[in-house]
Amino acid sequence: MAEVQTASNGKPRFSRILLKLSGEALAPAQGAGLDLDALAEVALEIKEVAGLGVQLALVIGAGNYIRGTDYEARGMDRSTADQMGMLATVINSLALQHALEKRGLYTRVMSAIQMDQVAEPWIRRRAVRHLEKGRIVVMAAGTGNPYFTTDSAAALRAMEVKAEVILKATQVDGIYSADPKKDPKAKKFDSISYLEVLEKGLKVMDATAISLCMDNRLPIIVFDLGVRGNIMRAVMGEKIGSIVKE
Ligand code: UDP
Repeated sequence: MAEVQTASNGKPRFSRILLKLSGEALAPAQGAGLDLDALAEVALEIKEVAGLGVQLALVIGAGNYIRGTDYEARGMDRSTADQMGMLATVINSLALQHALEKRGLYTRVMSAIQMDQVAEPWIRRRAVRHLEKGRIVVMAAGTGNPYFTTDSAAALRAMEVKAEVILKATQVDGIYSADPKKDPKAKKFDSISYLEVLEKGLKVMDATAISLCMDNRLPIIVFDLGVRGNIMRAVMGEKIGSIVKE
């Protein structure tokens, strides 16, 4: 996997990336659903990056609708709750596809749960072909399995299509030693190892996703989606947010 460095020669640092968007970062100020204006903004940023010839695989979560564990805590069978969560990622993926197409981009949604009328089935070789042709591939329905998260799906799919990096766009500007909203002494890590993330129990991605990235030396850059231009900065190799690597 690529060693991440800063680059300032005007060329993108990466040629194929997996961008993971958290559902929650695209939620409206109140209640469930999607903030379509925020989504349109993200689509514009993605267009700018795609315009540089960067191949883009996208995974979007569903925290803006359903998290399996929340429903489990309220008495629902976990597998059923997780299946609902995965279906919610398809809703988000379709919205994302629409926002991208409105910007004139070519996209495909590929779903880990078969739903032929709505999306293509996930077929790795076909996904790679789409990427090579410059189509943005939105990878929906997580891994298709309960007890996983879309972070694990992002790690898995990144590996499958040989993305050079996972860009995890979220609501915080990096990885902290504690919740910066609750602990004023919380320290931000510019760079941190996979093992440290696991040992310290930092809430970057779940342990399954981190382990998968560690085993395959896939770097993860965590950054704030709320700052305009951050996706481009990350793609250009600017030092933003926090990076998890060896
Ligand atoms: N989910 C799942 N398997 C997967 C991916 C997702 O069961 O491979 C379910 C799980 O219930 C999860 C929900 O889908 O809580 C939404 O995904 P996630 O919590 O990762 O969304 P995010 O936090 O990124 O918005």
